[in-house]
Amino acid sequence: MFATHPNLIVMSPLLQTVQQWIDSAAKVVALTGAGISTDSGIPDFRGPKGVWTRNPAAEKQSTIHTYLADPDVRKAAWRSRLDHSAWSAKPNGGHEALVALERRGKLHALVTQNIDELHQQAGQSPERVIEVHGTMRRVMCWSCGWRAPMQDALERVRAGEEDPPCTHCGGILKSDTISFGQALVPQVIARAMDVAAEADLLLAIGTTLQVYPVAGMVPIAARAGARVVIVNDQPTPMDELADAVLREPIGSVLPLICGVRAA
Ligand SMILES: [Zn+2]
Repeated sequence: MFATHPNLIVMSPLLQTVQQWIDSAAKVVALTGAGISTDSGIPDFRGPKGVWTRNPAAEKQSTIHTYLADPDVRKAAWRSRLDHSAWSAKPNGGHEALVALERRGKLHALVTQNIDELHQQAGQSPERVIEVHGTMRRVMCWSCGWRAPMQDALERVRAGEEDPPCTHCGGILKSDTISFGQALVPQVIARAMDVAAEADLLLAIGTTLQVYPVAGMVPIAARAGARVVIVNDQPTPMDELADAVLREPIGSVLPLICGVRAA
């Protein structure tokens, strides 16, 4: 299942060192952001090809206050959910490398800011995945808390309901994700901080590490004595806390350092 990634890179001394750190680690905690899913065809938000860069109205749709207040915002949100790139996306070599790490018995937990469930689709055990921003593959009723598969709601949109209400109470349905202006789930965040403190190696992948409280996992892990490895194509505010910063493409570098394939 681990297809060779087209962008082969050379094993440098730094990559070799990181690979050895992972080999000797017992409790790796991975933290992933949008950068791990761009190879699967899911655009990030604020990059040059980002969703909000190209369509500033999309950012408004993801604000909880406008979503709840304005039926037109909800109708637009349902239309854009219909043809979201995630429905046809497949996990890539980066996701698969983290599955391999779990099978080697080294992955303590995987905290993700992504809502696409590609980690689970790649074969990651759901109980190891901590989704700090929820999942777009489920809907939640804003009134009664009822949850259901997103595809069921999208079926209703295709059948003509522009803003399908909760089938139990008639309340407003939204993807089960954390929108702007919406509070994070305290228990989920607490779990993310706990696993950061328990890590012996924190691997931050494809995240700009600018958004708290999740970015705080890095100093928590570092203070607890974990090695910190950052894999991201842009500098992050946490780079100076890292033992290694890797700028290579995620889909190429993760299989190498996670021991999926030799250089
Ligand atoms: Zn309801």
